[in-house]
Amino acid sequence: MAARDSSQYHPSYSSRDGDLLLSSSDGVLFNVHSDVLRRASGFFKDMYDMPRSADETPGPLTAKSNTVAAALDIIYPDRGYPTIATVADFQDLQSFGDYYSMPKVGSHIRSLIQAGFRVSPDILGVDPVKLYVLCCRFGLEKEAKLASAQTLRIDVKSGSHDALLEELSCENLLRLTRLHQRRKDAVLNAILLNPRDFFELPKCRVRNSVNMYFGGPENYLHEIPTSWAILTQVIYEAIEKEPLDCVLRDRKFLDHAGLGTLWGTKCDRCVQIVCTKEHFWKSLQDLLDRTPNTV
Ligand SMILES: [Zn+2]
Repeated sequence: MAARDSSQYHPSYSSRDGDLLLSSSDGVLFNVHSDVLRRASGFFKDMYDMPRSADETPGPLTAKSNTVAAALDIIYPDRGYPTIATVADFQDLQSFGDYYSMPKVGSHIRSLIQAGFRVSPDILGVDPVKLYVLCCRFGLEKEAKLASAQTLRIDVKSGSHDALLEELSCENLLRLTRLHQRRKDAVLNAILLNPRDFFELPKCRVRNSVNMYFGGPENYLHEIPTSWAILTQVIYEAIEKEPLDCVLRDRKFLDHAGLGTLWGTKCDRCVQIVCTKEHFWKSLQDLLDRTPNTV
């Protein structure tokens, strides 16, 4: 909110029946009712409980006018609840509520976040890392889990989120980094350790008949083309350098120029495509679906 003239009252708190004049840190005045403040704020209750002269007034509040007005809207019994649009607004309001011991402010923020998640896990249209930090800070475990799933769209190791991540406790930071590592490991291990489970490898009808003589025709599968190593590399680079889910959830990466040989390789005997793009895509999505995606 833009700075106001120091003599200006906030339009919602300019009534003359207030008995306490407060000032926000940016100089906006609030004419409020001391009875409301005493009931809603441990800070003001203590202040009024202590001996004081009749004309003594508190110094400027610790927050700007938009935050003060939002907190007052929450604690006043006859006001509509404020619109809190950004994570920064949430954080400012929470800090203000904490500083002045206003439990109703914290509980209102918590219920807003919870209500937002019921509508959409992508609330606020903000960076999911910010949302995860916010949920952790408010002890909203269920919502923190939902937010952590949203962070899979982001490379949290890129450095651009360090300032936010530093606000997390060690435990919550570990939980988030382990989630990302677990997803990476799940994909890479599946491809590197069990490629035959991961790719569709059709049985070879021609070679079956040839191998009849050797006793194991029903298990005979085509060899994985050597070009599948390129796919492994493409996926490895995608996971290491780019956001995990949006890359592997976008089928476009299968159209990588180096993979044409893989999808086109046919058996020289029965002419079946050995590795089909369709089956690989489905296997990859199934794998992502069944790997835990929350902290
Ligand atoms: Zn074949």
